[in-house]
Amino acid sequence: MKRTRVAFAAIAAVGALTLAACTAEPGDTGDDETTGAEETTDDGGGGQEGTIRIGIKFDQPGLGFQDGAEYTGFDVDVATYVAEALGYTADQIEWVETPSANRETMLEGGQVDMIFATYSITDTRDEVVDFAGPYFVAGQDLLVRADETDITGPDDLNGKNLCSVAGSTSAQRIQDDFADQVQLIEQPGYSECIQYLLGGQVDAITTDDIILAGLAAAEGSGAMVVVGNPFSEENYGVGLPPGSDQCEPINEAIQAMFDDGSWEAAIEANTEGTGFTPNADLNPPELRECAAS
Ligand code: GLU
Repeated sequence: MKRTRVAFAAIAAVGALTLAACTAEPGDTGDDETTGAEETTDDGGGGQEGTIRIGIKFDQPGLGFQDGAEYTGFDVDVATYVAEALGYTADQIEWVETPSANRETMLEGGQVDMIFATYSITDTRDEVVDFAGPYFVAGQDLLVRADETDITGPDDLNGKNLCSVAGSTSAQRIQDDFADQVQLIEQPGYSECIQYLLGGQVDAITTDDIILAGLAAAEGSGAMVVVGNPFSEENYGVGLPPGSDQCEPINEAIQAMFDDGSWEAAIEANTEGTGFTPNADLNPPELRECAAS
């Protein structure tokens, strides 16, 4: 595996062309004279020019979180590992906010090269975008105020007000399975739901357990608890533009992250102190076959 690094001052000039460069597929080194066309189909491990635009959440502590110029969380760690395997240094990553409702459109419209944003692989989404992975399995759960003891699962939501996020599988599942029984309030992001829960306008928030655990821990007062009764399986995929040729190299990178221990270390580091216990005893999920591009 060749890992030719492009270390020219010319990179600075290329930086000015970042926007143009970013429209290329991440593994496409184009006319890169240092690595040669052949290597672009190799493993993508050669140094890449320009930047790679990676979509994440900005408001999900422990998963995808922006604090000034700092980006942290499990999605950020997996994305950084994968980007490095594709030949991009951490400095070449441009983090872009991809709210739940905008993910497909942002991939289709070429605003991001790939998305690591608690993005469940579903049949409906599979029809419009491509996915690598999955790299994690979460489960939909409920977050309630600590003094709210009569909600122990989705069947207890009769007559309750529930907050979730537009464009998420969580809101969709509630609409499909519980719409007659609950009043669903949809927000652009889960952090907005927290204000509704703390303010008493809703009785619960629903989304993936790992997201809820991170939100509750970050709020810090112990005022909210995750019910701990997951009722779905959410396979987090790497969202890719339709027809992408990057699924295979990304899956190779994810497999390497599973194998060398850094995947497990990333989960532990990012969920520490949140009380989150992963569904499957921290066994990495099996990667899917990539769709033919
Ligand atoms: N994993 C679910 C989804 O992709 C919920 C989390 C989210 O909205 O990002 O819709």
